[in-house]
Amino acid sequence: MENIQPVLAFCNPATGEQFGTIPMTSPEEVQRAAEEMRAAFPIWSAKPVRERIRILRKFQAVLIEAQDEITAVINQDCGKSRQDALIELFITVDMLAQSARRVPRWLRRRRVSSGLYIFKRCYVEYRPHGVAAVIAPWNYPLTLALPPALSALLAGNTVILKPSEVTGATGLLIEDLIRRVPELAPFVRVVHGDGRVGAALVEARPDFIFLTGSTPTGRKVMKAAADHLIPVACELGGKDAMIVLEDADLSAAARWGVWGAFFNAGQTCMAVERVYVVEAVYEEFLRQTLAYTEQFKSGYSAELDGASGFGPITDPRLVKVIERQLEDALAKGAHILTGGKQRGMFFDPVVIVDVDHSMLLMREETFGPIMPIVKVKDEAEAIRMANDSSFGLGGSVWSRDLRRAQNAARQMQTGSIIVNDSIAQFGVPLLPFGGVKDSGFGRIHGEEGLMQFVRPYSYMVGGPPIRWDIATILREPHHYNLGAALMHVIFGVDLRQRWEALAQLRGKRGNNKD
Ligand code: NAD
Repeated sequence: MENIQPVLAFCNPATGEQFGTIPMTSPEEVQRAAEEMRAAFPIWSAKPVRERIRILRKFQAVLIEAQDEITAVINQDCGKSRQDALIELFITVDMLAQSARRVPRWLRRRRVSSGLYIFKRCYVEYRPHGVAAVIAPWNYPLTLALPPALSALLAGNTVILKPSEVTGATGLLIEDLIRRVPELAPFVRVVHGDGRVGAALVEARPDFIFLTGSTPTGRKVMKAAADHLIPVACELGGKDAMIVLEDADLSAAARWGVWGAFFNAGQTCMAVERVYVVEAVYEEFLRQTLAYTEQFKSGYSAELDGASGFGPITDPRLVKVIERQLEDALAKGAHILTGGKQRGMFFDPVVIVDVDHSMLLMREETFGPIMPIVKVKDEAEAIRMANDSSFGLGGSVWSRDLRRAQNAARQMQTGSIIVNDSIAQFGVPLLPFGGVKDSGFGRIHGEEGLMQFVRPYSYMVGGPPIRWDIATILREPHHYNLGAALMHVIFGVDLRQRWEALAQLRGKRGNNKD
């Protein structure tokens, strides 16, 4: 930790311009933040949920008020368009509004049956973990940082947020936006810096960790958290497959497949990274895909309504990944039909064919504007190939027959699926989003996303044990035969088993007398 660079520079990847710096948070400061949030936890968690909602609605108002400021910073930080930045804000505000409306119901104490303990009442309450650490990536620096933090807060946790070092300006802005709500500020800390600051945060022993990032980072964080038995939720990488069946609306599939592959320069965990098209429609799909790709240009504008399209590669480390995967694919026989030209951090979108699963491009996450397309014999082969991946985040199926598409979708080993569209399921705040396999197991959004930030607390209430309560009978000595008989009578699965129990009880009593 002693090697932490003191300063994090903000750099616009589209222009190369450095537009600010911030000191990195030192390990001591991370530790202090954890102590402060631990001290603040009893105060925040003791607030009734409706009070927490009231305070977070003020934050919602701040977010809406600051829309142009937010989209301007994201635009500089990532190089994406102001409108794409607005999508991030829109999803964040939508998530907060919808969760705030429902969270009292989600967190309500539940009465459960006390079973045979008929003189007791049993309840499950949901209690916050304590201090929640939220570690965020750079590709959607607002909408992957705030929603988990807001879920944690609604659930009653205090929060330490670590934004990505690649988009430090958005992290700084988030800190500033939180300060604008004085009733919220004491319960959130933002720490700034790279993976070493993230590691220091894990070492500061938060009570829960929510990580969105790559699969290797997920493994590192889980290993470090295991030393302290800290529960972790991981939202990790993807290699999403798109399946195009012969009865698909090919024009829509090509248009929105292209969008799903190239939106945000492909830097979306659930981007279309592999396309499997049944042979009957392969040529036509390819023709339309190339036509739509022609219309989808990369570029940069800081204007509110600047030309859309997609921006640059945000994280310079990715350029090498893209180059390596393309080189490997070309060496193994793949052909680029269009794109691939690089200008600084911008790539012309690539449509590539003759790819197979021996290529890195089809196995590793790419996170760039590349759309590999594979011709398959039929639906079964498409599903088999889609599932031939270590990842399992999202995916899509295209068919006019919704029943058929859903049937195919159910066979895909992913955490979510969309029929006849790309990526849009992430925009639904009540749909829990996350993966299976190497894509992790955490969920963002929805009741399931929020309920990760609480743990069940059970309690049983009633008067002191009374004689005829089954709990008393089983705890008092010399009741073996009676207890066994009760079990057979109450839980016996058929008449014979129940009747045998009574016979057995009589027999055993006789034996005992012997
Ligand atoms: P990353 O793994 O490099 O970093 C993610 C965060 O973890 C950053 O804040 C980073 O500083 C921090 N970090 C790195 N090393 C750490 C350590 N040892 N301990 C604690 N924190 C550490 O990922 P990235 O490049 O920022 O983001 C892109 C990745 O995130 C892609 O793999 C993408 O698929 C994935 N992602 C997943 C989802 C999802 O919902 N499943 C969403 C967006 C992005």
